[in-house]
Amino acid sequence: MDKHMAVVATGNQHKLVEIRKILSDFPLEIKSMKDFNLEGLEIIEDGKTFEENALIKATTIMEKTGCLSIADDSGLEVDHLDKQPGIYSARFAGEGATTEMNNTKLLKMLEGVPTDKRTGRFVCAMAAVFPNGETIVLRGECEGIIGVEASGTNGFGYDPLFIVPQFDKTFGELDSETKNQISHRGRALEKLKIALNEKFGG
Ligand code: IMP
Repeated sequence: MDKHMAVVATGNQHKLVEIRKILSDFPLEIKSMKDFNLEGLEIIEDGKTFEENALIKATTIMEKTGCLSIADDSGLEVDHLDKQPGIYSARFAGEGATTEMNNTKLLKMLEGVPTDKRTGRFVCAMAAVFPNGETIVLRGECEGIIGVEASGTNGFGYDPLFIVPQFDKTFGELDSETKNQISHRGRALEKLKIALNEKFGG
């Protein structure tokens, strides 16, 4: 397959690093919004689902750059909280909330809740929008348990609170390679690689 180019529509540097790494074995030259002087661009994510928001981001960037654009919309669903924070994960504790504020709020809402009721999952919708307007949207999920305290300093966001039962470690404790192999983002991108291979004629 020839090497193609794609712009990753995210201002989140952690996501960009993960996406670059997961796609590093795939013949796709990855550009960032910064490469197109779009790093400050505000995109209003007013979709009602991860999939809608991923498409909004990828479509906006495809229209601005004329290039194949890839966007991730992701978040944490906690069963005991009726799937909150969900699509509001980045701003769970309010507009402009820090990671610490979001994590503190989540721990507080789960105070006293036993382990077997602390189940949840990370969800990632990955959208690819082509210059001709064609779209691909795929989802990856990773099941886990919300810990009672933060543990580990790797990753970002809710990673120190998210325990992966298979390893009995949080995403914050796992190395990036292991996280990428099993994460919602890793799974969505593996599906995207298959879809792009088919599209580009393998
Ligand atoms: P988005 O940029 O609107 O997709 O918001 C994603 C938010 O979900 C992030 O700001 C994090 O709070 C959370 N999130 C998504 N993926 C991850 C992950 O891999 N680790 C930790 N938190 C994540």
